[in-house]
Amino acid sequence: MNEPIPQLPSYDEASLDNAFATLAEEARTTDTTDPEAFRLHWLGRKQGRLKLITEAWLKSAPPEAKKALGIRFNQLKQQIEAALDAPAAKPTTAVQGIDITLPGTLRAPGIPHPLLKTMHEIVSVFHHLGYSTNLGPQVESDFYNFEALNFPENHPARDTQDTLVIANQQSRPSRDRLLMRTHTSPVQIRTMIAQAPPIRIVIPGKVHRNDAADATHSPIFHQIEGLCVDTNITFSDLKGTLDHAMKALFGSDVKTRFFPSFFPFTEPSADVQISCIFCGGKGCRKCKHSGWIELLGCGMVDPAVFAAVTAERRKINPSDDAYNPEKITGFAFGMGVERIAMMLHGVSDIGHFYSGDMRFLEQFA
Ligand SMILES: [Zn+2]
Repeated sequence: MNEPIPQLPSYDEASLDNAFATLAEEARTTDTTDPEAFRLHWLGRKQGRLKLITEAWLKSAPPEAKKALGIRFNQLKQQIEAALDAPAAKPTTAVQGIDITLPGTLRAPGIPHPLLKTMHEIVSVFHHLGYSTNLGPQVESDFYNFEALNFPENHPARDTQDTLVIANQQSRPSRDRLLMRTHTSPVQIRTMIAQAPPIRIVIPGKVHRNDAADATHSPIFHQIEGLCVDTNITFSDLKGTLDHAMKALFGSDVKTRFFPSFFPFTEPSADVQISCIFCGGKGCRKCKHSGWIELLGCGMVDPAVFAAVTAERRKINPSDDAYNPEKITGFAFGMGVERIAMMLHGVSDIGHFYSGDMRFLEQFA
């Protein structure tokens, strides 16, 4: 930065003009973003450029050249002081090292992750039906994850094959032992214990299973469950709700059908299939030529679940009868977010969602 002051070839007017023009240009292109550095560089009392010019040129100048030299020196000094007084005006000129004619740095705005986007789409369908969103912890106790949901002690889903348990829980009573929740259903129990009917909630969230990762499985994935509890809730309400939701998500010409199934916490239980969104039901590779795709599980809340909730509520209010199955009924449903996102966007490997690969994610922008 600090170039030595060149020797003046001569003190005639042309040489002086030339020398000061070079200095004026140097001053004009010096970076002023740090005004103090700029001031020191030019006006510093010991090593400033003006001080050096005084030493090199003025002191040794012949008397007849001093006036011409002094005028030009003062012009340069004024230019530098003006630049210091108005640093904001400086960036309009080309600053050394920055070409202001180049295009700027492009910072693309962020987008929701495709899984979050799918979750929002599903949740919003139910918000329009008057449901609200409830969330719960991912580390759960055995009671909320299994016991209150009517999983018998020896049910295979409790097997450590499926459930990731927290270490060193053996000394605790079995209902208090901690685990990573295997479904979002414990939030249904937490909500019912805290709140009397009517209930209409959706529960989006992460769940954990001891599954090896492959094209369609991941040890961590996302579910959305729904719970509706009120007087006079029937299986027809369940069918109508899910049929509407599937049409809202996949298009109004999608059909639904219900098959008997089994879940510990619902009775009766059903699997729901939708007509294939790829072939319209004619049969294709995606629906294994059946014309139907299985998408979610559902059923009427088992009275044993209401009994477990009532037992907990009675620890606070012994006469609590809000979840008497003689008076209220309810339905519940659940679906995997990854599966729906894969179907909607034609994603063939679940691992893409977690890879953080920009080439994949940018397609959803
Ligand atoms: Zn098909």
